Amino acid sequence: MRITKVEALPVTAVMDEPVRIATTVFTEVRATIVRVTTDEGLVGIGECLVRSAPKATASIVEDMLAPRIIGMDPMDAGSIWWEMFSAMRTRGHTKGVVLEAMSGIDVAIWDIIGKATGMPTFKALHGYGRRVLPAYASSIFMGDAAEMTSQAERFIELGYKAMKIKIGSGIDRDEEAVKAIRSTVGDSVKLMVDCNSAYDAGTAVRLGRRLEKYEIEWLEEPVPPYDLKGYEAVRAGQPIPLASGEGEFATYGFRDLLATGAVSYAQPDLGRVGGFTEGMRVAALAHASNVYLAPHTGMCSALNIVATMHFAAAAPGFFMFEFMEVNHPLMDIFTTPMPKPVNGVIALPSEPGIGVELDMGKLERWIER
Ligand SMILES: [Mg+2]
Repeated sequence: MRITKVEALPVTAVMDEPVRIATTVFTEVRATIVRVTTDEGLVGIGECLVRSAPKATASIVEDMLAPRIIGMDPMDAGSIWWEMFSAMRTRGHTKGVVLEAMSGIDVAIWDIIGKATGMPTFKALHGYGRRVLPAYASSIFMGDAAEMTSQAERFIELGYKAMKIKIGSGIDRDEEAVKAIRSTVGDSVKLMVDCNSAYDAGTAVRLGRRLEKYEIEWLEEPVPPYDLKGYEAVRAGQPIPLASGEGEFATYGFRDLLATGAVSYAQPDLGRVGGFTEGMRVAALAHASNVYLAPHTGMCSALNIVATMHFAAAAPGFFMFEFMEVNHPLMDIFTTPMPKPVNGVIALPSEPGIGVELDMGKLERWIER
């Protein structure tokens, strides 16, 4: 089998309801969708995580990476990954948008591998036998305390037993929100908090000490991803375990992050870290470092979310799945209904490959030309 075509579809969709986190307000959601075609007629799909300029990511897929892998056998996923990475690293591109472009291609390759072998991708990845994943609601977005507790009540009604709170508006307001939500949901619900890198280490230490009494599962991205010394200081100075990794790339990035000893939950994003091929290596590294795997999903299309379910089902040390409880048009782009958690667990698709196909009628209006 040979790869004959690699296409990229840049997508920008308007959010039905904008959502606010510490560092931005999302009014649009973006993605670059990759389609890889083979000479045997199999087509695989994958998503590159995109925060801005999906056309730029699409150009990297089609102009930089595609020429290197057309003609290769998609069953050689590791070789394809290395062909893309080694060619770019000698040109200085070892992180950032090039890795995100590679990620979408790798996910599409593993969709093909599943289809070619008749297995769901999580089985083709030498799965752990997981068919369902415990999931948490992501996220309670920023608002006043009343708005935030009403979001928490909605998640309880949906059957969730764990949820994440977006904080980072100053530690007094953060504590007010967490206190109100804890008293609303009771003691048995797991609560995580996410700063989206809003703080410096000293502020994050004070925050963590203030929040300890609310039984917080993890404190996510207290400081920016490049501040590894800051991570060490936050871990040493306050009692809540730390989660991080959505801003990190490839095994080399995670090696350095985990070497701090500060992080208890690793959060690679499949559409950024390097796809399944590299994501599984990161999961192994985390497992050997006594760090749980809690893959990031975030603002992306439903394709990255479903692909990440396969990653979570196949990887060692998996802890809990981040399901995006948000309304935007890219959550409804398949020919079949989007899988959703029921009573806090989500079931994997059973069809070969990633197990979903794009409904181009739904996607077409958001594609940038
Ligand atoms: Mg986060």
